[in-house]
Amino acid sequence: MTSLRTEGLTKSFGGVPAVHDATVELREGRINGLIGPNGSGKTTFFNLVTGMIRPDSGLVLYRGRDLTRHAPHRIAHAGIGRTFQLCRVFPRLTVLENMLVAVRRTRLRELLAGLHDRGEAERARHWLRRMGIEHLEHAEARDLSYGQQKLLELAAVLMAEPDLVLLDEPAGGVNPALIDRIVTLVRELNAEGRTFLVVEHNMDMVMGMCDHVIVFDRGAPIAAGPPSAIKEDPRVLEAYLGV
Ligand code: ADP
Repeated sequence: MTSLRTEGLTKSFGGVPAVHDATVELREGRINGLIGPNGSGKTTFFNLVTGMIRPDSGLVLYRGRDLTRHAPHRIAHAGIGRTFQLCRVFPRLTVLENMLVAVRRTRLRELLAGLHDRGEAERARHWLRRMGIEHLEHAEARDLSYGQQKLLELAAVLMAEPDLVLLDEPAGGVNPALIDRIVTLVRELNAEGRTFLVVEHNMDMVMGMCDHVIVFDRGAPIAAGPPSAIKEDPRVLEAYLGV
């Protein structure tokens, strides 16, 4: 079954195409990698899929439903979650508050007054336990290490119970031990039925973790397939190495 499908997705900035005629299909249940040289349009693609920017043309379909030009909260509600290249947490809120805000951005005042629902707090603790940061529940997010903040961001994304999770450079700025933990978590979350699309520069991580790799060059996919085939693909070697 198809998870995400984009058709001819196109976005230019000041007349310069960032994503151009990108048709991408993700099958349910896979860990997909999205790689490509700097400036090849990977982040813009994420922003288009999650409604943070609107395409000039083309379609975003999720499980057959047209989400093109929908607002980010509606896309999140449809089941697509994402993390950011530069991790986004609320620095002065505690870890637990960050988790609750993730599902109740519109009810921040009540949340801060302690009027949140117990069931949600339990669910938040479940995800914090899964990430191994439950002991930090009362710490302010700004006091966490960068790696711990990334785990918090992922935990907060999971509060919305997404079926498709977009990860933007999960290993960036993170120590090797934590990279292993993130890989294990992604595999576990995938085994439970979630589909992933991961932008990552760490090739060992991408090739070791992903079932399927899509390669972007100049705003569109130039190759897609299992890691073993992608590593040998002459178009990929040319895009990366100019050979
Ligand atoms: P990648 O994530 O693969 O490094 P990006 O999607 O960040 O690539 O960028 C693709 C191209 O679009 C780059 O040339 C970049 O400079 C340009 N770009 C991205 N976002 C903007 C923006 N908001 N305004 C102008 N140009 C942008």
